[in-house]
Amino acid sequence: MSKPEYEARVIPCSARPLRFDATKCVGCNRCLEVCQVDVMLPNPQKGAPPLVFYPGECYYCGSCVMACPNPGALSLVHPLMNQTKFIPMKDPAQGG
Ligand code: SF4
Ligand code: SF4
Repeated sequence: MSKPEYEARVIPCSARPLRFDATKCVGCNRCLEVCQVDVMLPNPQKGAPPLVFYPGECYYCGSCVMACPNPGALSLVHPLMNQTKFIPMKDPAQGG
């Protein structure tokens, strides 16, 4: 048996910044190559989506999604607190 090239373990974090669709991802690893903070590592299984080892390092720049050649294979999941949407207040005096 060959010696592993490297070993890594997932760093626990409540954030789940990336969502892969394994039916669309071809495992080309373009997404992980552009990531500036190395959130992902290649999947040892050929053709499978990369593995997210350091989810807490993601700063949601979107580079990985833009680099992906297969639309829908990878999407960003923003933290819940960043998913809020501000809407204008209605003025009751104007029947709002
Ligand atoms: S959004 Fe940016 S920081 Fe997060 S995994 Fe993708 S490339 Fe890396
Ligand atoms: S760039 Fe897209 S298709 Fe390639 S490994 Fe990443 S998610 Fe999969």
